[in-house]
Amino acid sequence: MSPVLLRQIWKRAGNRCEYCHIPHPQFLLPFQVDHIIARQHGGESTLENLALACFHCNRYKGPNIAGRDPDTRELVRLFHPRTDIWSEHFELSHARIVGRTSIGRTTVQVLSMNADDLLLVRLALIDEGGVDFQ
Ligand SMILES: [Zn+2]
Repeated sequence: MSPVLLRQIWKRAGNRCEYCHIPHPQFLLPFQVDHIIARQHGGESTLENLALACFHCNRYKGPNIAGRDPDTRELVRLFHPRTDIWSEHFELSHARIVGRTSIGRTTVQVLSMNADDLLLVRLALIDEGGVDFQ
């Protein structure tokens, strides 16, 4: 991946994970570039299909592009950082990310966005103040 493309990805993301919104300097593990639609599903390495993701979200997302809504058990696509608006699909309930839509609930579940390590970081950031997860 070219340095120019990498810089565009980081800049566009505001240096935070495009899924869980944790800012990069606050998270101990390295950030990675995610193929929103995985290469094995025909996704290309273009700016439109790439997103900045923390190690946690990228590891759980893997090549997934869909999951089952924990409420309805229906097959639902995952949140797409390029075409979906974060605040329409997610909201913060104290430190927990809650899905507001079927896509949000499914993405929270597949990416395990309320795992203990992420909750711990979010709690610390909220306690310190000044971090807007929306
Ligand atoms: Zn994340």
